[in-house]
Amino acid sequence: MVITQVLQILPKAVTTTKEIYYTANTVVCAGGLSRQLLKSSGISTKLYFTHAEMIETPPVDIQLRTIVMPANLKRFQLEADSTKNEELWNQSDLEMVPPILDAGAVQFRDGSLRLGQISRAITNPHANVDSKQSEAELRASIGKILPKLNKLPGTWHHCLVSFSSDALPLIGLIPEHESVHVFSGFSNPLVIVPPLAQRFADSVFGIKDEIITKLSPVRFQNLS
Ligand SMILES: Cc1cc2nc3c(=O)[nH]c(=O)nc-3n(C[C@H](O)[C@H](O)[C@H](O)COP(=O)(O)OP(=O)(O)OC[C@H]3O[C@@H](n4cnc5c(N)ncnc54)[C@H](O)[C@@H]3O)c2cc1C
Repeated sequence: MVITQVLQILPKAVTTTKEIYYTANTVVCAGGLSRQLLKSSGISTKLYFTHAEMIETPPVDIQLRTIVMPANLKRFQLEADSTKNEELWNQSDLEMVPPILDAGAVQFRDGSLRLGQISRAITNPHANVDSKQSEAELRASIGKILPKLNKLPGTWHHCLVSFSSDALPLIGLIPEHESVHVFSGFSNPLVIVPPLAQRFADSVFGIKDEIITKLSPVRFQNLS
């Protein structure tokens, strides 16, 4: 196992910052960066990403007895709305739709909290976000549902989360690119990733799997 940055995916090889690795098959599971990595390798996919933002607190004495999240996540609507016009995702720095904020909180076993979450659909994976303003908006929103939490010390964080236009992951061979597979688009992966990874591995070895077939990138091939 080698941990290193991949620069490019070639038909039967992968270039990294140090070496070229020759491969029979390549699986791209680079999360929100999968789209850009594939694009810079000349491969287009129907994968998109949101910029997710939240606040991480240090361990606190307050004890949250449950995960708090909205019953209806606005993020799913943002994902659907931002992929109506796929062509626009090829522009370099476009905010597809207004950002959304789904107020919620999760406590980890060490007592630290994650307070979230803002999601933005901006086509530039390296877009600059005004962290001060975002943090203020997050705190104001958390304050309405969990007033004891919004003044806790904490640090704003940002990362990318990949998704597809039908809310299901993209798993399998990329059409017209023999030997390049994708395993990404898990916007809610915790429950489904382990069984899907097993099924995907089996399918690569020739075991037919109805679920993996349904998650194949082929389903978007004829869409504009
Ligand atoms: C605030 C927040 C809350 C969330 N809450 C939930 C939740 O409650 N339930 C749930 O199920 N999911 C949740 N998610 C979503 C979940 O965390 C992600 O969807 C999940 O991490 C996706 O896994 P992944 O392996 O596909 O991608 P990632 O976890 O993004 O992993 C991709 C990896 O690829 C690496 N990489 C990228 N480019 C390269 C390259 N060129 N070379 C080498 N390596 C590269 C990255 O460094 C990274 O390690 C949440 C996400 C966020 C941000």
